[in-house]
Amino acid sequence: MGRGRFITLEGIDGTGKSTHMDWIRRFLEHRGVSVVVTREPGGTALGEALREVILRQSMHPETETLLIFAARCEHLTRVIRPALEAGRWVVSDRFTDATFAYQSGGRGVAEEKVAALEAWVHPDLQPDLTLLFDTSEAVARGRLGANHRELDRFEQEPEAFFGQVRVGYLTRARRFPERIRVIDASRSVEEIQKELEVILLSILKN
Ligand code: ADP
Repeated sequence: MGRGRFITLEGIDGTGKSTHMDWIRRFLEHRGVSVVVTREPGGTALGEALREVILRQSMHPETETLLIFAARCEHLTRVIRPALEAGRWVVSDRFTDATFAYQSGGRGVAEEKVAALEAWVHPDLQPDLTLLFDTSEAVARGRLGANHRELDRFEQEPEAFFGQVRVGYLTRARRFPERIRVIDASRSVEEIQKELEVILLSILKN
């Protein structure tokens, strides 16, 4: 059995990652793929504990970046790498592109510092496919507001913060066009899923 594929979902809060995650899992499972759905920060007991701290506790942006990579190290060694080696596909709600977008683009942590942590924690592994759900910060914010859920430390940031995060994401997409697919997330869920179907069928063939 060959190595599984690693797919990541990215985008600012409210763009629809969670909405599409379950659909993607079912789409792949119907085609015989064994899928591990996971998320960052999180994905392990320690990672989920760190997630709670990261989403609730105020801290310096560099501390935040280090905690996120600590959670990622655990996630990679305990969940992501073993699953891929066993031929399973891993679909993660966020990964390192999010750290470049949020902690560097949004919070101003030097990009070289994020890159140094990436080179430490996963020098040899990148997603095979990254789906970047992209829409304006106003649309994303409107969707979160309509949802009436309790907003975490990131979701409570002003709209301008998400504008910077979005620029960070689009910069990553321009830099890695072969890996990152920008999905226009301002469309209806059905229209987006039609596009996802084409993309996923193509990765299934390769
Ligand atoms: P994320 O996981 O990226 O934060 P969610 O999937 O939780 O985003 O979506 C945020 C809200 O927006 C949810 O209430 C969801 O039902 C709604 N939503 C998601 N995608 C769309 C879409 N394409 N059009 C309209 N509403 C959407």
